[in-house]
Formats: sequence, C-alpha cells, structure tokens
Amino acid sequence: MSDAPVSVPPSDWTRGEPGVALQRCAGCTHVWYFRRGFCPVCGREAPETFAAGGRGTVHAATVVHRAPDDAYRALAPYGLVLVELDEGPRMMAHAPADLAIGERVVLGFREIAGRPLPYFQRSEPPGGANR
Ligand SMILES: [Zn+2]
Repeated sequence: MSDAPVSVPPSDWTRGEPGVALQRCAGCTHVWYFRRGFCPVCGREAPETFAAGGRGTVHAATVVHRAPDDAYRALAPYGLVLVELDEGPRMMAHAPADLAIGERVVLGFREIAGRPLPYFQRSEPPGGANR
C-alpha cells in the first residue's frame, strides 16, 4: 500500500455516478461541461476537472408529455429544464413540471432505468421570504 494521495476524478452522471464534473482552463479560466482534453476557447490542454456545486438558475423550461420510451412514459408529464449553473455552463435535466425561468434550483439525482439522472428542484420557495 502506498501513502501517495490517490486522485479520484469527480463523479459524473454520464458514467453512471451521481454527480456533474465540470472542467476549467488554467489559461483563460473558461469553464465548460462535457469532458474534453482541451479548452474550447483557447485550445490549452490538461484542463482541471472539478465537481459542480449543483446550484443554478433556470434558463429555459418545458414540459414533456410524450416520453421517448417506457421508463420515461411512466414519469410523463415531467419537466425538462436548461439550467445555467453558477459556474457558468448550462446543462439540461429533469425537473418538476412547474419550474419557471429565473427560478433558483439545486441539483439532485433520480434513478431512472437503473441510471442516475440529473434532477433539479426549486432551492427557494416561490415568493419566499428571502428576497
Ligand atoms: Zn482556455
């Protein structure tokens, strides 16, 4: 056994783990989602990979009534949102059907067809006292 620290990459739901792994460029500080080996802005290699904080703002929202397959048909109608994460990138995920653009949300995961699927929930009650 070695005492050397083991570098564990942040989990990401696309690998079947509940998490969202973002990447940041050490050169231009651009942050993006979906793993790649270089910065999409300046081309610098070896980006830093880190776990998303899981908080963001709804940028777009819709409700799915016609689901793509049986596993999702059981959930329909369900919300689908495009969320701008606090780190900057946008990601699409499931959500309650009544989320509106501009609402603050927090990321969780639901298991659908044996895989963790990103699911955003409202992080503040609508019309809450903290405004
Ligand atoms: Zn860059």
